[in-house]
Amino acid sequence: MNESNVMKSEINRRRTFAIISHPDAGKTTLTEKLLLYGGALDLAGSVTAKKKQRETSSDWMELEKKRGISVSSTVLQFEYNGYRFNLLDTPGHKDFSEDTYRVLMAVDAVVMVIDAGKGIESQTLKLFEVCRQRGVPIFTFMNKMDRPAKSPLELIDQLESVLNIHAYPINWPLESGPFFKGVYDRLRSEVHLFEKTPGGAYRAPVSVRDLTDKQVKDVISDDAYTEILEELEMLDIAHEKFDLEAVHEGQMTPVFFGSATNNFGIELLLERFLEFSQPPAPRKAGGETVPLEGPFFSGFVFKIQTNMNPKHRDRMVFIRVCSGKFERDMMVTNSRTGRNVRLSNTHNLFGQQRETLDEAYAGDVISCITNADLRIGDTLSTKKGLAFNEIPRFAPECFAYLVNHSPSAQKAFRKGLDHLLAEDIVQSFWPAQEQSPIPLLGAVGTLQFDVLQYRMKNEYGVDTTLDVKPWTALRWVDPSVSEETVKKVISYDSAYGEDDCGRMVILFRNNWSLQYFSEKNKEITLHSSPAAL
Ligand code: GDP
Repeated sequence: MNESNVMKSEINRRRTFAIISHPDAGKTTLTEKLLLYGGALDLAGSVTAKKKQRETSSDWMELEKKRGISVSSTVLQFEYNGYRFNLLDTPGHKDFSEDTYRVLMAVDAVVMVIDAGKGIESQTLKLFEVCRQRGVPIFTFMNKMDRPAKSPLELIDQLESVLNIHAYPINWPLESGPFFKGVYDRLRSEVHLFEKTPGGAYRAPVSVRDLTDKQVKDVISDDAYTEILEELEMLDIAHEKFDLEAVHEGQMTPVFFGSATNNFGIELLLERFLEFSQPPAPRKAGGETVPLEGPFFSGFVFKIQTNMNPKHRDRMVFIRVCSGKFERDMMVTNSRTGRNVRLSNTHNLFGQQRETLDEAYAGDVISCITNADLRIGDTLSTKKGLAFNEIPRFAPECFAYLVNHSPSAQKAFRKGLDHLLAEDIVQSFWPAQEQSPIPLLGAVGTLQFDVLQYRMKNEYGVDTTLDVKPWTALRWVDPSVSEETVKKVISYDSAYGEDDCGRMVILFRNNWSLQYFSEKNKEITLHSSPAAL
């Protein structure tokens, strides 16, 4: 094969995705099982260990201390049937944070795990909305079918009514709870009967049969069998047909039923995921679509982690490759600064082991230890001037100043704040009316503040407190509006200022005051994300 064919086939075999779910729905278990099927057995254990460590918030903080573990899980790579999977970890905090959203900007598909006993939960909804905005394909796994579950029809209806997405059940469960026997594959018209294995440690044995097979009827009660036939008939008649194009556009979600702990339905999910998902899609930079095969290399920074090793203040920068081939020690240009950056010290993170990375293709994630001036959203490319569309920032809902009470720690405080703000753990703002030497911090969830304080203490030795401010909403002001115009209409329950890029923002006490303001001042266009500016 010549080089361009190698590149094409390497890109075509890449699948880069994330699993999203409400806490406890089974994301960690499913990740582990996917690794099990991907042959990365030794990794499977490490995922559970990680989860155990972060069961509670304080344990999670402990885990953060052992940076190696949490970082190594940022991307898990495994091979299955000749495909290279990049599974990006969305941090599984109880509270949600911007970190999670940014990871979702770097994937080409998501698997949404739902606890079949609970249906759609709050965090699933939030994460789903982010995925929908990007139009990425969404695969749904109805997990925990071995426990009392909502009726499958109800679960499908919920997807359609709550998430407003077309749902196509690829397979249909044969009963649930202790009677969960298997699934009927509607596209192939075959039944997969599952057998339990001790602790779900091995691939669950499966036998494939016809729905009319005596062995199938024997394991299902007569009533349940009739009901399943009726449901399947109804789905065929009343529901829409499978539409792969709609799946690719994120308009239709293929639905799978199973149980992650028991390995039921995992292989079916993996196989179909491969069948229906697509290789990395070309990304847009301004009005231009950047071809996957290059001829130039390009990627963008979606995550930064500092102080991986507390002894050396090093930072690990995660780059999603969008086009061309990456080669070790490559020189690229940062479009934001116009400066050249050499990508040395690049790694492939495989579980807890780091391998030196020599080459990577569109779809892959490169992690690079560097102190170069890089920020989240920066485009790195061998083509000068290329800039991918901005990673959206989300409007913060919690605001506070970080306070240091010890004059002797002032230097460390400023340094720590500078470093951690460069990681974009929280956003920073400069309200016009307050003469503060340090910025007002904004976060989508308060956990982002906890992480900031914890890391200030742990990595810079500075104890801090929070001076919480009463704002709960923020909007970016359209650049067509002048500061004078805004200044005139600011009232007691709002304030204006700038973000760290000098863009004008208005802070509101609550959604009511935001709405009131918008209605009264129609000439001032507000945006909930700076990406719209
Ligand atoms: P996460 O918070 O989404 O990562 O959820 P976990 O994977 O940690 O699962 C939460 C809990 O649900 C754990 O106790 C799992 O053992 C359990 N669990 C996960 N999948 C299943 C399943 O298919 N059936 C049952 N009965 N329990 C499950």
